[in-house]
Amino acid sequence: MKEKHQIIVVGGGLAGLCSSIQLQKAGYQVLLLERHQYPKHKVCGEYISNEVLDYLNQLGLNPFDLGAKNITTFRFSSNKGAALQIDLPLGGFGISRYALDAALCNLALQQGVCIHHEKVTAIGFTDNQFEVTTNKASYNASFVIGAYGKRSVLDKALSRKFITNKTPWVAVKAHYQGPQPAHVVGLHHFEGGYCGLSQVETGAVNACYLVHQEVFGRFKDIPSFQENVIAKNRHLKAFYAESNMLFENPLTISQVSFESKTIVEDHVLMIGDSAGLIHPLCGNGMAMAIHSAKIVSDVLIAFKLDPNHRSTIETQFKNRWHHHFDSRMRAGKWIQKGLLHSGLTAFGVAILQRAPRLLSRLIKTTHGNRI
Ligand SMILES: Cc1cc2nc3c(=O)[nH]c(=O)nc-3n(C[C@H](O)[C@H](O)[C@H](O)COP(=O)(O)OP(=O)(O)OC[C@H]3O[C@@H](n4cnc5c(N)ncnc54)[C@H](O)[C@@H]3O)c2cc1C
Repeated sequence: MKEKHQIIVVGGGLAGLCSSIQLQKAGYQVLLLERHQYPKHKVCGEYISNEVLDYLNQLGLNPFDLGAKNITTFRFSSNKGAALQIDLPLGGFGISRYALDAALCNLALQQGVCIHHEKVTAIGFTDNQFEVTTNKASYNASFVIGAYGKRSVLDKALSRKFITNKTPWVAVKAHYQGPQPAHVVGLHHFEGGYCGLSQVETGAVNACYLVHQEVFGRFKDIPSFQENVIAKNRHLKAFYAESNMLFENPLTISQVSFESKTIVEDHVLMIGDSAGLIHPLCGNGMAMAIHSAKIVSDVLIAFKLDPNHRSTIETQFKNRWHHHFDSRMRAGKWIQKGLLHSGLTAFGVAILQRAPRLLSRLIKTTHGNRI
């Protein structure tokens, strides 16, 4: 006989872990299905906006107890070397996903969340209940939260539209011992992409870049790409020249998709990147993932996870998601378009150097208030 659960969360990244903790704390028994073990490095810029700091504290996690770096300043440079620096409107903190996801997993276990390390292969919905199939077992549940990230076999299984489109983005990340002040997050432009630099809890600098496949594919390997493209930005050239990589090899991912997604798919409530990924240059994807975990949990708790209210739960969740995130996603799209246009970037930096408040406003369009 299949195990029957009130709620199953698929994917234990930031979104899945935060929703599991909130729901479990509210008295609901959560089964979280995550394919990997913790801790694990992930391709991510590892700068998190302070908008989710209070919420993380409420869940029981203070990132500064783990050594997170307080980040107050934003530095930007164009490919041509022009640079500017401003105070961040809200600020944030630098912490590795290696440390953060593992700490949230420990917190979830302490709260009583049941975590199974299994790969979910299918989610079906019939007669007002779900059947979730993994590589090891099969479960029934009244509700399923989809928190399985940017791209998964599950998107194919659920016939989600975006999954059929190829996307040209590649991302590369590694930690370095190198020169980057702890209070600064850097965003540095180069042909076809941009690179974020910020310290994490160990004092290492996370260098993570996103690049168009068309530019990346011209080179045989990462070192020659970095030497021939990234090093044209003198700030990045100086960083890489003065740094030692702490990973054996950089981590890479491809097929990073920024296409619109459906927020509820065959009754699965999607959160985090499964609901949509904002362009990484905004430095807001993790905050959105965590915020969306709060939104879905608040709605489910308000209706006591009663399947008779499924339709209202889905509508309220969708409405709140769109209310909080639609304009940020749009702004991120436009900013990324502008940034990848070298002429526009140089022109933009010249203007922003004279009017730094404009940059502060631009940052605000992709961020929310503290939740
Ligand atoms: C290059 C790049 C740089 C970025 N930089 C930043 C930044 O500096 N700041 C910021 O705020 N955001 C940044 N982001 C965005 C941020 O990384 C994401 O928004 C965030 O990780 C989303 O969290 P999540 O929980 O939705 O997904 P994830 O963290 O991807 O978690 C999904 C989880 O689901 C699991 N999973 C997947 N499929 C299955 C399955 N079938 N069965 C079971 N488990 C499964 C995975 O193993 C994973 O643990 C960046 C993104 C990119 C691509």
